[in-house]
Amino acid sequence: MRVIAIDGPAGSGKSTVARALAKRLGLQYLDTGAMYRAVTFAVLRSGGDPGDPDVASRIARSIDLRVGLDEVTVDGVDATLEIRGPEVTRAVSEVAANPAVRSELVSRQREWARERGGGVLEGRDIGTVVFPDAELKVYLTADPAERARRRAKEVTDLDYETVAADLARRDALDSNRSADPMVEAGDAVVLDTTGLGIDGVVARVVSLLTDTSDDTNENADA
Ligand code: C5P
Repeated sequence: MRVIAIDGPAGSGKSTVARALAKRLGLQYLDTGAMYRAVTFAVLRSGGDPGDPDVASRIARSIDLRVGLDEVTVDGVDATLEIRGPEVTRAVSEVAANPAVRSELVSRQREWARERGGGVLEGRDIGTVVFPDAELKVYLTADPAERARRRAKEVTDLDYETVAADLARRDALDSNRSADPMVEAGDAVVLDTTGLGIDGVVARVVSLLTDTSDDTNENADA
């Protein structure tokens, strides 16, 4: 099973790099942040309090969650746009700090990869918790101001200050929680993407694979 772990904070370039890498290697791609967002969406939709650990863990265990390349559905409802909206973004780190939610989603992520013979997974804890034996672990970083600029370009309805404050708040919550905090794995390659174009980052990651593996050219598509 061929697993590539791409971790790092919001705006570090994870999604773009992970998608490009998956395409290049003929592997499937999983955005694990979308899974935490989808559980948060389901909690809010049920009228529950995202801070109530029992509600969030019950929902995480029971929902039918499908995370595709460009579409996310929760119990058959299309949640693609709403999981990126301000309500979910505000509450997601609180839900993601819940250990019972994490253990449920981590096992779904492992199963997802097992069913596909591997994949490129992006998140905060892929290299440390979900797949500590991943073939390659990359931890992307970037200057906080640049990360906020990138994110503000994507969410056009929010201004730069609002986006920067949200990123700083989520970074702090995600790094300081006790369950599976955001931290680089000891054996991760740390890449600072500030000022780097996407093609440069992808090329660098591909070159890391070539350095560490003999079967880089194999098409591992399941
Ligand atoms: O990647 P994205 O910014 O969409 O992730 C949303 C939130 O989900 C993060 O701020 C974090 O709280 C949580 N998350 C996590 N572990 C992951 C992926 C995301 O805790 N593997």
